Amino acid sequence: MRDATPQTIYLSDYKPFGFDVTSVELTFDLAPNCTRVRSKIAFEPKADAERTFFLHGKELKLISAKIDGTDVSPALSDDGLTCTVPDAPFIWEAEVEIDPENNTALDGLYMSNGMYCTQCEAEGFRKITYYPDRPDVMSVFTVRINGPHPVLLSNGNPVSQTEGHAEWHDPWPKPAYLFALVAGELVAHPGSFTTRSGRDVALNIYVRPGDEGKCAFGMQALKDSMKWDEDVYGREYDLDIFNIVAVDDFNMGAMENKGLNVFNSSAVLASQATSTDANFERIEAIIAHEYFHNWTGNRITCRDWFQLCLKEGLTVFRDAQFTADMRSAPVKRITDVIDLRGRQFAEDQGPLSHPVRPESFQEINNFYTATVYEKGAEVIGMLRRIVGAQAYDKALSLYFDRHDGQACTIEDWLKVFEDATGRDLTQFKRWYSQAGTPRVTVKDAWYAGTYILTFTQHLKPSATTPDPQPQVIPIVTGLLSPSGQEVVSSQVLELTEESQSFTFEGLAERPIPSVLRGFSAPVVLESELAENHAAFLLAHDTDPFNRWEAGRSLAKASLLDMVRTDAAPDTQYLDGLRAVMSQGDLDPTFRALMLGLPSQSDLATALHDAGDTPDPDVIWTASEKMRAAQAEHLKEILPGLFADHQVPEPYKPDADQSGRRSLANATLSLLCRMEGPERAQRQFDKADNMTQQLAGLSVLLREKAGDAALKAFEEQWKDDRLVMDKWFGLQVMQADPDQAVATAAALTEHPDFKWKNPNRFRAVFGALAAHHAGFHAAGGSGYKLLADWLIRLDPVNPQTTARMCVAFQTWQRYDAQRQTLAAAELDRMLATPTLSRNASEMLTRIRG
Ligand code: ZN
Repeated sequence: MRDATPQTIYLSDYKPFGFDVTSVELTFDLAPNCTRVRSKIAFEPKADAERTFFLHGKELKLISAKIDGTDVSPALSDDGLTCTVPDAPFIWEAEVEIDPENNTALDGLYMSNGMYCTQCEAEGFRKITYYPDRPDVMSVFTVRINGPHPVLLSNGNPVSQTEGHAEWHDPWPKPAYLFALVAGELVAHPGSFTTRSGRDVALNIYVRPGDEGKCAFGMQALKDSMKWDEDVYGREYDLDIFNIVAVDDFNMGAMENKGLNVFNSSAVLASQATSTDANFERIEAIIAHEYFHNWTGNRITCRDWFQLCLKEGLTVFRDAQFTADMRSAPVKRITDVIDLRGRQFAEDQGPLSHPVRPESFQEINNFYTATVYEKGAEVIGMLRRIVGAQAYDKALSLYFDRHDGQACTIEDWLKVFEDATGRDLTQFKRWYSQAGTPRVTVKDAWYAGTYILTFTQHLKPSATTPDPQPQVIPIVTGLLSPSGQEVVSSQVLELTEESQSFTFEGLAERPIPSVLRGFSAPVVLESELAENHAAFLLAHDTDPFNRWEAGRSLAKASLLDMVRTDAAPDTQYLDGLRAVMSQGDLDPTFRALMLGLPSQSDLATALHDAGDTPDPDVIWTASEKMRAAQAEHLKEILPGLFADHQVPEPYKPDADQSGRRSLANATLSLLCRMEGPERAQRQFDKADNMTQQLAGLSVLLREKAGDAALKAFEEQWKDDRLVMDKWFGLQVMQADPDQAVATAAALTEHPDFKWKNPNRFRAVFGALAAHHAGFHAAGGSGYKLLADWLIRLDPVNPQTTARMCVAFQTWQRYDAQRQTLAAAELDRMLATPTLSRNASEMLTRIRG
């Protein structure tokens, strides 16, 4: 039954647990429908502890419970048990029965293709046994597993391994959300790493038989990550073994369980034939991310779930630094900003807006958001920019020294920076508590040799932030001469007031400013600078991010004009683009990014911000026209670009080759708009790697010439789940707006549409939600189809359902008819009698 009044949890209500847990022993007797879990847990009451305790527990069948060897009868409820306890240290023992095979929600202990695995973050451990399932309760775990499987894994170091039995011991105290167990018929791709102090660590990537050939890249990424964390953060790995397991059914990307990371197979399995360059890069980043959590998340964890950004913001920031070091720093920054604008700015503009550290929630799983992760990482980047790289390193050393083994808060984190640098971070802390994207306006003035830049910041009041206060905004700024020389090199201007001016003396002539270089703060910048400012920066800026940004803002302004007034594409933009594209010494990846356009959803956001009502069909048409104009304007150079960026064998997924392929593929797409599909067909036919095969197929589909290729692709890849996810998704992505919903609906009839698998569900419906004009089709068919399927998925997998509800977050910015249709679907979902707490919270917030 649906929870009538879901409980809201507040940060301000935090109270420590009354007991220490000094050790945990777990024994698993595995069976698909009746796994037995025996626990033996040592509790020590703290000074002021009460004489009863509450242990979380969900969907457990309690077989027996004992305290100090004597049977007890705790009071059971839906979410746990309450029991009278001694006022001295005691041993709790319980035996419970669970049903992993029927656990389709994919948290707790569940089965995926015959293998057992766990997902305990955030609150899955309570579905395994009764326990104080909160991150500030840290303990040492010993785990025994009995089951007829060749591979039996848990956290820490192996103690013993015999047929049908394994014992593991994890010496590092950890919260229950980092517990993991895996059992199954798996094969290991082994490796090893020697830490800088000379300890040998055994590494393994465990996969299903048949996937052995897709592990080598992930293994190398793991070794690179281990080395990087030693070199850059001075962090060494701390166990004898590090295992990664690939799982096909997984709600998220991957999970940092201590010593036993569990990965969505899409986030670890990689091969030339089956993975695109983008897949390789993502896999490298996720492996790094989960590995880096060993220090930022595991050794130092979160006091409570409100502090989630403490581990996630920092770890995203660290994995971005890693990718920037491994590949191209400017390219990484540009792609991160595209992602930030697409997901986090959209979230912050709508009904799901919340601070980086929220102050209340109903279901914590709904707060693994772009704001916590990506804006959380931006906040760390700003902190580093403000204190400087050296002081950042000093603060991080202090953080690891002071808080190792603890469960911490954002206050602890900021105090470390205050102590290491002597700076008062009171105002900076507003980045954690105020929701919304600040707007910064910039204007300039020139008086007889003095140049003045004036910035104004504004944050729109919102439900969570009714009375916004000025934030500390680091604005990295350089000044260029009219001939494009850097006359004042990049420096950090710190905007702390609502409005503030910065003065530059001693300049011979009026400079051209380049502000917010590297996107030094997550704000919307509004320029009141000269008319041709962006065109100048596109031609001359020495900061690659701002050069890209200049092109982007010209493209955006032109597209918005086209949408509003049916104007022609801006030739100043197209001329500037041609100049950049012709510059052979520029990184091909960078040039491929220059060809990109703001997403149609970003354009809708901009229109809405300006008080207009976006029309998805008009935005679609304008974007298509702009593509055609790019093709036409670049037609002399496109064949050369395409030919010059073909990559010689052998294939490598590195930054250099993937950059060339991305430019060649962007070029191919434009060329085929003019020439027709033959070139794409040739590329598809002879491709020896997924990047080129998929790029060929995607152009063929767009050109309505993809039927044969689609069949061939399916025939070739029908047994590869991850590749078939691409096949499902691409058809929706490349459909015309009036065909996207019908295409998605038809795909749900395909025998391989295994909708309980989150990757497959997302392949179709994630693609539909991302198809702006398709999902927002005027008759509401997109809203209805997605709602039908979310209603169906919710009882099976509430977490994935709740995440997919985000597709509706922008419904209020469209016209009255679309709003009525979307609201009706939201209400229909909300009226589902069995709606999960996860979906209920999301839909209620979105409905407003
Ligand atoms: Zn993470």
